[in-house]
Amino acid sequence: MSHTPPASNREYHRQIADSLADSFLRRTLDKFAVEYRASRDKVFSEVAERELIGRIAEVKDSAAKHIEDLYARFKQEAERRGAVVHRAADAAEACAIIAQIAAENGVKRVVKSKSMTAEEVGLNAHLKKNGIDICETDLGEWIVQLRGEGPSHMVLPAIHLSRDQVADEFEKATGEKQDHEDVQRLVKVARRELKPKFHEADMGLSGANFCIAETGTLAIVTNEGNGRLVNTLPRVHVALAGLDKLVPTIDDALTALQVLPRNATSQRITAYTTFIGGAGPCAKSPTGRKILHIVLLDNGRTKLAADPLFSQVFRCVRCGACANVCPVFRMVGGHRMGHIYVGAIGLVLTYLFHDRKIAKTLCQNCIGCGSCKAVCSGGIDLPALIGEIRARFSREDGAPLPARLASVAMKNRTVFHTLLKFMRFSQRPVAGTDGFVRHLPMALFGKHGFKSLPALAPKSFREQWPTLERRPAQPKMKIALFAGCAQDFVYPQHLKAAMKVFAAAGVEVVFPMTQTCCGLPLSMLGETATAKEVARQNIAAFAGDCECIVTLCASCASHLKHGYVRLLGAEAEAFAAKVIDFSSFVHDKLGRDVLRLQPRPEKVAYHASCHLCRELGVKEAPRELIRRAAEYVPSKEEESCCGFGGTFSAKFPEISAELMRKKLENVTASGATRLVLDCPGCAMQLAGGADRQKLNLRVTHIAELLADALAIGLE
Ligand code: SF4
Ligand code: SF4
Repeated sequence: MSHTPPASNREYHRQIADSLADSFLRRTLDKFAVEYRASRDKVFSEVAERELIGRIAEVKDSAAKHIEDLYARFKQEAERRGAVVHRAADAAEACAIIAQIAAENGVKRVVKSKSMTAEEVGLNAHLKKNGIDICETDLGEWIVQLRGEGPSHMVLPAIHLSRDQVADEFEKATGEKQDHEDVQRLVKVARRELKPKFHEADMGLSGANFCIAETGTLAIVTNEGNGRLVNTLPRVHVALAGLDKLVPTIDDALTALQVLPRNATSQRITAYTTFIGGAGPCAKSPTGRKILHIVLLDNGRTKLAADPLFSQVFRCVRCGACANVCPVFRMVGGHRMGHIYVGAIGLVLTYLFHDRKIAKTLCQNCIGCGSCKAVCSGGIDLPALIGEIRARFSREDGAPLPARLASVAMKNRTVFHTLLKFMRFSQRPVAGTDGFVRHLPMALFGKHGFKSLPALAPKSFREQWPTLERRPAQPKMKIALFAGCAQDFVYPQHLKAAMKVFAAAGVEVVFPMTQTCCGLPLSMLGETATAKEVARQNIAAFAGDCECIVTLCASCASHLKHGYVRLLGAEAEAFAAKVIDFSSFVHDKLGRDVLRLQPRPEKVAYHASCHLCRELGVKEAPRELIRRAAEYVPSKEEESCCGFGGTFSAKFPEISAELMRKKLENVTASGATRLVLDCPGCAMQLAGGADRQKLNLRVTHIAELLADALAIGLE
């Protein structure tokens, strides 16, 4: 596995297949993901996580706005303390400045500690071209340097490599046989090899986590002693950092330092936190003082600082947490989930700093689960940025044919619904009686055959609506029901079960017939103009009087509530305020005493849909409802993505299948015989997977469980 950017989509899929077949990588990343989550939760339980993240966001947003003032102050203060501060407009200039510093000081050998900014500008290759020997001294970075690779993680650069692979590299580097089993011994070998390099080096090269303007101080956070040796032993020290590392005060840096190590490695504080306030004493230097140069890199950052959406990128402290929790990273590793920078921020930075074509390929490989946003140290809305990049590609390069067709079909509700009815008619010869497409050889589906496909229902919900009971004798409340296309046309049974629950609770239901698809698939395909049009159609359809707009689809709920406001601003606010997901409606609005439920004698597991638990923050309501209706059996990683992700499962079936298998494995291990969820997309994925694997597992919507558990309805 190497960090070779994919030349085409086809090549990218081949690389993904290689990663998925790498059993060591899969095991390691799986173990890491589970352990990281648990230790992160623990270490954040001691601090006010959201408040700290909010403060980092505030400081960094303000820094982006005042970047020129901060730069001027930092330069003045650092130079007053004996440093020389340079500003590099782009990667080439940063490399040239550093090569020039090396030439002026007769530098032949450089030791380097970890710096993603150096990776960004391609510094190692440039110095090598100038005849300078540059040696990485962070253990992981040294290993990947020996292999001629880039880091596969911003904090854990060699996480993709096994002990055997490392031992092999050390054998090549030292010419000695290594004990593959003895990790401590391998570390000692690295120490022995690297130690003389520090003494021989003429220059130390580092990054910086924070550049503190009020004092001109650099703050460098590391876990290995190499960083301090790099900064102290050679007579010349060059620190390279992006302009986004500027913060006004030491207090701001200390605030971020409460989050950065917790988020990166689940540590309260890293082993070394170094503050360098100017050029200190240095016995090796002819002047007796360290020759300290600080290179601040622009490379598009000042333009970015003024961008109303992408300036959020300034909040990134490079903690790597967005990779640690990303389900796609977990499957394929950082060399396939990024270019130089990895994880969610890697997709964004590839677009902003590196290669548009590579970014176009990589940005497709985001399932939109929101896990990265939920943990980001700076509260960056990473899925929204990735979505915007996709939308820009679609606008600038023209949308791919499926997106264009979807856009044309969904713009007009009548056309869209007629199309669905036509599909229902055409599928007749292959539709089974149990809701799945049955009479086709699975071989036809190729990589998509990992789950049974749902068939369109013989009668949509809207076709059944006129015959349904929707107004109780003495209604307590009036709601409007938003169906969403998947439940309207594929799973009307979800909505019918909800109707039973509403009737039992004395809720009057209206169903505006002019409602249409929520438009989320269009937003995901980058079809923003049509997504806006569709949003306006739905807002108009629900203009009538009702207390709430209830939907049984978590993805629709999240898009109607947040996506519409992002798309249309104030125009969508009143509508969005009324939208509520089914579980929250039953749990929070109806309250505990309205429904009488008879707990069912069955073990029920829960899958928390990404849009419900992260985008809408609904966590306890569905679990509490399950406890009232059956025996709730918690399963491992309830909140991890099922692998559906709308069009993702069609675009990346190999990843989607693995995520689904993992989810079903955890659910069956819990002993559950029923799995409930809040989203028809997850239902398609997990019911299809359970059927394909012939599991003894019924997959239903939570509304169906409640309808099954209704005792007598009204008290
Ligand atoms: S939204 Fe999910 S899949 Fe996409 S980058 Fe973030 S964590 Fe990864
Ligand atoms: S985007 Fe957020 S989570 Fe990712 S590295 Fe940056 S600060 Fe950390």
